[in-house]
Amino acid sequence: MTPTELTTAVQRRRTFAIISHPDAGKTTITEQLLLFGGVIRQAGTVKGKKSGQFAKSDWMEIEKQRGISVTSSVMQFDYAGKRINILDTPGHEDFSEDTYRTLMAVDAAVMVIDSAKGIEPQTKKLFKVCKMRGIPIFTFMNKLDRDGREPLDLIAELEELLDIEGCAMNWPIGMGKDLRGLYDITKKRIELYRPTDVEEPYLALDEAGRIAGDNPLKEDSVYTQALDDIELIGEAGNAYDPAKIATGDQTPIFFGSALTNFGVKTFLESFVDMAPQPEAHLTQEATEITPTSPDFSGFIFKIQANMNPAHRDRIAFVRICSGEFQRGIDITLTRTGKKMRLNNSTEFMADTREQVTSAVAGDIVGLYDTGNFQIGDTIYAGKEAISFEKLPQFTPELFMRVTAKNVMKQKSFHKGIQQLVQEGAIQLYKTYTTGDYILGAVGQLQFEVFQYRMQHEYNSEVIMEPIGSRTARWINPDQLDEKMSSSRNLLVKDINDAPLFLFENKFAERWFADKYPEVELTAKL
Ligand code: GDP
Repeated sequence: MTPTELTTAVQRRRTFAIISHPDAGKTTITEQLLLFGGVIRQAGTVKGKKSGQFAKSDWMEIEKQRGISVTSSVMQFDYAGKRINILDTPGHEDFSEDTYRTLMAVDAAVMVIDSAKGIEPQTKKLFKVCKMRGIPIFTFMNKLDRDGREPLDLIAELEELLDIEGCAMNWPIGMGKDLRGLYDITKKRIELYRPTDVEEPYLALDEAGRIAGDNPLKEDSVYTQALDDIELIGEAGNAYDPAKIATGDQTPIFFGSALTNFGVKTFLESFVDMAPQPEAHLTQEATEITPTSPDFSGFIFKIQANMNPAHRDRIAFVRICSGEFQRGIDITLTRTGKKMRLNNSTEFMADTREQVTSAVAGDIVGLYDTGNFQIGDTIYAGKEAISFEKLPQFTPELFMRVTAKNVMKQKSFHKGIQQLVQEGAIQLYKTYTTGDYILGAVGQLQFEVFQYRMQHEYNSEVIMEPIGSRTARWINPDQLDEKMSSSRNLLVKDINDAPLFLFENKFAERWFADKYPEVELTAKL
């Protein structure tokens, strides 16, 4: 690729994740987007949980048993001259650290909200990670075909709970049975809901923002209500501000219904226009690596093991940060300095895996791995060594005490734990007093995957004993006094030997804070 070709290719990339609380409609909207992209021909093919057929992305046995997709997969398609990469984030309540880490590899996020429910807990958690990264966040208020909450109310809640400005790009005219259409504020038109064959789907608006010509809605009270609302947000709402959108301080809000495919195309068209192309990534030395710089570089944000149990292969997912990736490329792994030739790479689609011949900054490639890579690793092809910023550590909320069932098999037990922790599958803590192993996770499923993999990959049966939900808070090691440990908390150290307390609940934490006001308690993300 010439430098000009590389620049053109990079500028065309749009890489994002869709985040939502389970059941808000993430799968449904993803399918609609794939339909527009021509990747699939029929809705209902992405996730097989409803049809009882499993998508090819459900590699692990445990995924099959549970009928859910544990792993975030990557889907790619072209639309309106752009190459779109959608990174899936598991929407099940058993989501894991992988879900969070996927957000480290995207340039924008789409937040799908059920308009009857508003902001739900998982949306809030995922949103927090996006906000920390300062990436643009686009909002899709879904399920307009059902009676939901008042649009003004939804926006007010979003602004209050997520601490972000909302800017409506379109406005519903009615909802549920009374849904008439969407008033498109930026495109100056009304998109009719379920127009009959003879009807034109769009009604043009005049200068004053009223329907030009014949007005089929003029007698309609939902229409006048919508106009009232639009006037109000025009005067008292936030002005559209691309600079704030770029930094994640304002979110453009689109209304629609994924199930009836209403407003999704409008959303996609605006999204490809507004979403950012890949941006520079910072190294640990705070140097910016621009996506169009000629030498390939990238980082590993996820490792998926056991995709094919017969071969025990692992796939390392790489976000390309600069240059072009070609099969057979020679790279250096920064952490070890090891040089390697990358022959086997895989590009991800919803239900096929194809060999990559070339991919550029913004794209995701999967590399077959025999144990060289760890989460957060940087790989590069240029002469200068590069080390991208560390991936953040996340605060687990669930904990288990773990021991080997067979005490004679300590070796495989330790080896398994060590490798799975390195992979980022689970977090490990040790108690100060007894050196017991405590596992930490952000989702229950991480424990099940851990147990399954310990048994099947390391031949080590484990006993796990829940110690329940806990609040993890790190402290300054200099302030540590083992006497601070009490029956209401558990003192442990993480894999970097940093001390932290696992509090039983908020009250235990407050009690501690009152007793030791000089000790600062900090959370990870
Ligand atoms: P996910 O868990 O976020 O991936 O949610 P799904 O896409 O699986 O949707 C959850 C449920 O909501 C399914 O039964 C969908 O058919 C339904 N659903 C999704 N979008 C809409 C919508 O726009 N309107 C209505 N009425 N139902 C929807």
